[in-house]
Amino acid sequence: MSDQPFAFFPAEVVRTARLSSSLLRITFGGPALAGFASGGRDQSFSLFLPHPGQPEPVVPVEEGEGWFWAWRALPEQERAVMRSYTVRAARPELPEVDVDFVLHGDTGPASAWAGRAAAGDRVLLLGPAVEDNTSVGFRPPAGAEWILLTADETALPAAAAILEWLPAGTRVSAFLEVPTEDDRLELTTAAEAEVHWLVRDGARPGLALDALRTADLPAGTPYAWVAGEAAAVRSIRRHLVGERGLDRKLVEFTGYWRLGSSEEQLRAEAIAEAQAAAEAAGQAAVTGS
Ligand SMILES: Cc1cc2nc3c(=O)[nH]c(=O)nc-3n(C[C@H](O)[C@H](O)[C@H](O)COP(=O)(O)OP(=O)(O)OC[C@H]3O[C@@H](n4cnc5c(N)ncnc54)[C@H](O)[C@@H]3O)c2cc1C
Repeated sequence: MSDQPFAFFPAEVVRTARLSSSLLRITFGGPALAGFASGGRDQSFSLFLPHPGQPEPVVPVEEGEGWFWAWRALPEQERAVMRSYTVRAARPELPEVDVDFVLHGDTGPASAWAGRAAAGDRVLLLGPAVEDNTSVGFRPPAGAEWILLTADETALPAAAAILEWLPAGTRVSAFLEVPTEDDRLELTTAAEAEVHWLVRDGARPGLALDALRTADLPAGTPYAWVAGEAAAVRSIRRHLVGERGLDRKLVEFTGYWRLGSSEEQLRAEAIAEAQAAAEAAGQAAVTGS
């Protein structure tokens, strides 16, 4: 067993299955996945995809811990497309990993790749080598009396896996926003879950906030897990903390995508912010402020 929490796992597409108008399940397989140790819930990982015409994704894994900067130094058209996805299910005994992709057309390389994926297509996963890892965000504290889930279609795989993971007797209120009526997938849970489906039907993301504003939520202290489009997630968090007075430490929120920005752009922004913060900290250290 590895002592590193994350590792690279080469894999290939085994099969695809259309779940609904917006969602496609892709099952990855390959011997390396026997060591893929999903922690369940909203376990996420980085997926590397080839560009059209490339036989496999180009990632300088031989650089070890320096792989990220070596990957980033490669020309954009050569280096693999890197995107975040959720482990919908893992079966290490086979070994297989299911990932549910939102198909939003050819507007993004990952969506375009998924739409054309066929058995044998090669990918690379950077994912968990140990079950207890930092890419699981859903961690309700002992004192939480009920669970609030809000998710759009990109976070539906995570919400579905969380519902499967929760033990019997847990009270859950889930607000699940999807593009079309047939995206209302069948969910399995032992929890006492009240699921509110919100069908966008062409509207912009954000129906969950409207529904939450008027919702009669259970009494007691909740743990809230909020994921989906970044602006919608921010508004929901503001509502929960500001208007409903939830303790901010009990609200786990993650922007899974941002309307109008690719994940590449979001990563570039995050790197620029981190560099600016590091420079400011350096300045402060020099001036003693
Ligand atoms: C922790 C985490 C887990 C995630 N899990 C999943 C998952 O299991 N399944 C899943 O499908 N997604 C998941 N996502 C979201 C996924 O990473 C993004 O949707 C990603 O932007 C898709 O890459 P792309 O190459 O298709 O589009 P990009 O190149 O990143 O974006 C291109 C354009 O498409 C738009 N766009 C991106 N995603 C969508 C969308 N869903 N609908 C409409 N427009 C979009 C962008 O705003 C941009 O304008 C997850 C994200 C995170 C951070």
